[in-house]
Amino acid sequence: MGDLNGKTALVTGSSRGIGRGIAQRLAEDGALIAVHYGSNEAAAKETVESITSAGGRAFSVRAELGLPGDADALFAGFDTELAACGAEPGLDILVNNAALNFPGHIDAVTYEEFDRTIAVNTRAPLFIIQQGLRRMRDGGRIINISSAVTSMAHPRQLAYSMSKGAMDTLTHTLAKDLGERGITVNTLSPGWVETDVTAARRATPEGEAALAAYSVFNRIGRPSDIADVAAFLASDDSRWITGQRLDVTGGSML
Ligand code: NAP
Repeated sequence: MGDLNGKTALVTGSSRGIGRGIAQRLAEDGALIAVHYGSNEAAAKETVESITSAGGRAFSVRAELGLPGDADALFAGFDTELAACGAEPGLDILVNNAALNFPGHIDAVTYEEFDRTIAVNTRAPLFIIQQGLRRMRDGGRIINISSAVTSMAHPRQLAYSMSKGAMDTLTHTLAKDLGERGITVNTLSPGWVETDVTAARRATPEGEAALAAYSVFNRIGRPSDIADVAAFLASDDSRWITGQRLDVTGGSML
């Protein structure tokens, strides 16, 4: 497991959090990484530097997702930066990780927040995959980052949960189409993870303990807990797994 030398990976939303962890791990395994971000250029630079200072290869690509033409903008930047690196055109591993969340129960959800959630979390990955497949070599990998909320009900995260449910369905459906090219499509579903998203809830010992208690290991997940499984899905060792949703919650569903 772990030999990604000669492969190119695009990880959306890898300036921070889980995406950064995945980018770092795939780079450790030898892949050239496109570090995508939306607005936090400094964080994207930090991810790239952490990879290059460890001997890996990476470049950053900016594209705000959720706008018409977002996937075109992302891949225009990707193609340009890849060529600037002197790398072969093409893509081997696509990780759809970037997402946002406007928490709100049914009585609070607004049209604007719902549309934005779907545009970023669901529509953008679909069209990124469409563009990515035009570049992806046979035997490639598509890894979608979903969430435990698609099987464990969190009513306060209604729109977000719906957007992630669609990603689970996309994975399952698309995998059947891409088998003939040896491309696998899988979903990773994390529970609570130590990122900016959970920072406010982790700010007090009580909040931290409440999130940790979801897992049978009584701790909050780390980006590396998700990234190590993503590395397996990116590797040749996972070639017989496709269309699956892998629970990476530390046993939170048990
Ligand atoms: P995070 O720390 O908030 O990072 C989000 C990343 O996505 C950043 O790189 C951000 O770019 C990018 N992004 C967000 N909106 C974007 C937009 N409109 N256009 C372009 N880029 C955008 O998130 P995270 O906690 O690591 O979550 C990563 C994934 O795991 C998400 O799919 C999330 O739903 C899922 N997940 C997280 C948890 C958790 O507990 N953290 C649990 C289950 C599932 P900038 O840096 O430029 O803003």
